[in-house]
Amino acid sequence: MHLILMGPQGSGKGTQASRLAPRLGLLPIATGDLFRSAIKAGTPLGREVEATLARGELVADDVTIALVEERLDEIAHRREAGEAAVGALYDGFPRTQSQAGALDDALARRGEAVTAVVEIVVPTDRLVARLAGRRVCASCGEVYHVEYHPPRSPGVCDRCGGEVIQRPDDTPEAVQRRLDLYFAQTEPLLRYYRERGLLSPVDGDRPIERVTDDIVATVERPSPAASGGAPWRS
Ligand code: AMP
Repeated sequence: MHLILMGPQGSGKGTQASRLAPRLGLLPIATGDLFRSAIKAGTPLGREVEATLARGELVADDVTIALVEERLDEIAHRREAGEAAVGALYDGFPRTQSQAGALDDALARRGEAVTAVVEIVVPTDRLVARLAGRRVCASCGEVYHVEYHPPRSPGVCDRCGGEVIQRPDDTPEAVQRRLDLYFAQTEPLLRYYRERGLLSPVDGDRPIERVTDDIVATVERPSPAASGGAPWRS
């Protein structure tokens, strides 16, 4: 299975991905997390993309696609090593038409294809409120919110004890730029996948557990909804 999670920043993609990957047995491919790890580790890739992330702009397609292909190779190696059908859960990728085309090509070369695309839909005013209060663990990436989901001990990650911080690109200016970018560049992708009958919208303005269950039910349905219509969409 190759499942793409789509939705603007603050829609809960990261939270849902960390719940769905183990539940569905998929390798997470979260390009934002991969870039942040590279920056933290001080690799050549990290040094190349650090300023771009801090500005809230998109990393070049060729750099991003190369990173994803590395993870697809890892899936192939794990299959060769006898692991049962390993697939991937994409979070934050693809973000442009050219990335979507490159993913289709990369999967086709491996005899595979995108299985389903889930769009997590949340009204814009709710997105801004969520992002302003978002905090993440600097060590393991666990996601918190000052109001809705604070760590048990302030500033300390429940999962690993790491420091819980505000991401540099969750400042109001960078948030606005990232949402503008999302609507300008990424939304045409929804049409791309809708036309292929792969897109299923899911209402993301509900408790975390319900959204997860809904996504699992959606991807386990034999044929995902192709219409893209949703009565609760604003
Ligand atoms: P995210 O954690 O998904 O919000 O990503 C954080 C940042 O990483 C983005 O603002 C971009 O600078 C970069 N990034 C993540 N995924 C991609 C992608 N698919 N294409 C280009 N840049 C990306």
